[in-house]
Amino acid sequence: MAKILAIGEIINGKMRKSSKEMVSVAKKLSGSASAVLIGENAQGFAKELAAFGADTIYAGDLKDFSGQAYAEAVASIVKSKGYDVVLIPHGNTGREISARLGALLDTGVVSDVVELAMEGDSVVCKRPVYSGKAYVKMKVIGTPQIITIRGNTQGIAESAGAGNVESITVDASGDKAKQTNYVAQVSSRIPAAEADIVVAGGRGLKSKESFAMVEELADILGAGVGASRAPVDAEWVEPNMQIGQTGQTVSPNVYIALGISGAIQHLAGMGSSKFIISVNKDPDAPIFKVSTLGVVDDLFKVVPTMKDELKTLLGK
Ligand SMILES: Cc1cc2nc3c(=O)[nH]c(=O)nc-3n(C[C@H](O)[C@H](O)[C@H](O)COP(=O)(O)OP(=O)(O)OC[C@H]3O[C@@H](n4cnc5c(N)ncnc54)[C@H](O)[C@@H]3O)c2cc1C
Repeated sequence: MAKILAIGEIINGKMRKSSKEMVSVAKKLSGSASAVLIGENAQGFAKELAAFGADTIYAGDLKDFSGQAYAEAVASIVKSKGYDVVLIPHGNTGREISARLGALLDTGVVSDVVELAMEGDSVVCKRPVYSGKAYVKMKVIGTPQIITIRGNTQGIAESAGAGNVESITVDASGDKAKQTNYVAQVSSRIPAAEADIVVAGGRGLKSKESFAMVEELADILGAGVGASRAPVDAEWVEPNMQIGQTGQTVSPNVYIALGISGAIQHLAGMGSSKFIISVNKDPDAPIFKVSTLGVVDDLFKVVPTMKDELKTLLGK
């Protein structure tokens, strides 16, 4: 059976849900899982991964994220312990680590995978291409196989692991590029990439002030917030909220698109959401082609009603 190493993420002092998802996938594919967790307080978070099947967790403290140091530490574990497959969350940090790891280990990387299964010792991966218009199946030839997985596509499953934590040293002193400043985006909301429900707004919101409706609806639902590129370009919201080809990729259970036309570049970042609800006054808007439920109406009428109904329903 292939030996699989799952890579975790610590961002803004918190262990991301993706860490548990990677361990769950490793356990499901091979019956046992090991993990690497590097970041602030990694030792403290490491034990938590045992509940998702991790037998061994290599934990290393690192204050500021360094893709180079992270990839070097993982490469050394892969070589010394003989791992065949490395699973990495397909986020900003994961993308950097995977590329560096591919170069360090002289092997291939399959990225942004939404489905995967073992075939013999190979992991066969399904990933979207052409901004989600088609899917291809791919596998890495040779070992180790490096795979980045789109968040929220695999789910998290509890399963007891031995939870042995091995301390590792992560050395960023040889970095060719250094982080000189770090500004954390402080928000009490769940990040869109981790959320079960995402409420996203587009140009149809008309202004920064009315974009607040998106946030209010999200807060009633306990959801993450996102945007198409139009509100980002108009500076109604921060760039890190953009969802799509040049923004973040989300895959929640429910995606609510308000005043978003559904351009191909937007669909690339949310098309794998499980249940898509759209509100758009144009019945021919492309977003309806991917929607489970579509409301053809003025969002300024629909959203206040949605908010009132949901507040009653949820007792808020
Ligand atoms: C290289 C490249 C990369 C890109 N990357 C991204 C990306 O990552 N993410 C992204 O989102 N875009 C991206 N874009 C831009 C993309 O092509 C679209 O321009 C953008 O997604 C449009 O945003 P929108 O749907 O909010 O605006 P629009 O396309 O203008 O749509 C607004 C929608 O709101 C509806 N509407 C208006 N008023 C109301 C109302 N009162 N009630 C209900 N509905 C209403 C309209 O019917 C319309 O469908 C990229 C483009 C390029 C070229």
